[in-house]
Amino acid sequence: MYVYADNAATTKMRPSALAAYCETAKRFYGNPSSLHGEGQRAKALLTDYRGKISEILGCKAGEIYFTSGGSEADNQAVYSAARYGKAKGKTKIVSTAIEHHAVLHALKRLEGEGFSVVLLPVGERGIVSSEDVARELTPDVCLVSVMLANNEIGTLQPVREIGALCRKRGVLFHTDAVQAVGHIPVDVNEICVDYLSLSAHKFGGPKGVGALYARAGAPLFPLIEGGAQERGKRAGTEDLPAVAAMTAALCEAAENMPQANEKTLALRERLIDGLLKIPHCALNGDREKRLAGNINICFEGVEGEALLLHLDDMGVCASSGSACTSGSLDPSHVLLAIGRKHEVAHGSLRLTLNEDNTEEEIDYLIKAVKEAVERVRGMSCFWRDLQEGRKKFTFET
Ligand SMILES: *Cc1c(COP(=O)(O)O)cnc(C)c1O
Repeated sequence: MYVYADNAATTKMRPSALAAYCETAKRFYGNPSSLHGEGQRAKALLTDYRGKISEILGCKAGEIYFTSGGSEADNQAVYSAARYGKAKGKTKIVSTAIEHHAVLHALKRLEGEGFSVVLLPVGERGIVSSEDVARELTPDVCLVSVMLANNEIGTLQPVREIGALCRKRGVLFHTDAVQAVGHIPVDVNEICVDYLSLSAHKFGGPKGVGALYARAGAPLFPLIEGGAQERGKRAGTEDLPAVAAMTAALCEAAENMPQANEKTLALRERLIDGLLKIPHCALNGDREKRLAGNINICFEGVEGEALLLHLDDMGVCASSGSACTSGSLDPSHVLLAIGRKHEVAHGSLRLTLNEDNTEEEIDYLIKAVKEAVERVRGMSCFWRDLQEGRKKFTFET
């Protein structure tokens, strides 16, 4: 059996998105900046897609800027607010310990340029407290950046409360909504954000395209200089087929959201219940306040990478921590932030489902993970130490 359970890393393109991509690439090849008919037809489509996306997010079309994806949108939001803040003598940024590296690494760079960055803790449940944010909102804060849903453990952050706080204090607020858009309802006015990042390949669109919502009047500086595309905020000829595909995917995701979530949630619960029967393991992140498709579990006496290889042999595509960290030996910063010890964090498994998964696949996943965990533990000296009492278990039973 083959099971794709890595939808937080990327999704398969929806047929509607693929069709929109091909159709647009074939028929509308003009440059939207060209004055001739071919160019103007492309430009009209771009306007149309911008309108559809803004409608879904509850904003104006002129507040949507197409980018190369979530990372670029995160970078542009963070650097724009920081640059504006610095000019006003405000150099403190408040964020969380569990942000995506697209935000964390941008903040690291700003720290090197003299900004002070506060990364708030998220506690055992993996959720930041809005009171903690409130406490940090001193007059020198130029930006608060808190993700909507975490990409590793799926936890939903209290962005509505944080947005209200920031709006009241006149502080710019960015949310990385890459895991949320297309999965849960997102309205930029309800959460009072000034910037919001989204990425097409996380909701059935193509890779390499996304968008930044920047509220009218919020400071915005280009990362890429060149032509006057995207109202001078993002140079480079627009990727119209990709934008068409992203729009098709988002429209479909928005339309099917309640049914998709209901189905995915039932699959998730079945999978969590099945996996938690394996001895000495624990779910990472709050069980309820999480994305419908996210399961993240730590198994004691297990090396995550070894687990993934065994699962791959059994036809299962999964992930350990996040795809971006798997190249390094450091355990996930998110799992460390929720208080997992290094050796436990190393034994993590992330399975991310969507509505295309089936109950048969879930039952197969339970069987495959159980087998893979047994095999990896059978070869682990760490597991033997635990069993023979030389080391203590973190999770009883
Ligand atoms: C995937 C992801 C990103 C990066 O998006 P890309 O389009 O791959 O650059 C940023 N933030 C979160 C939360 C993500 O899951």
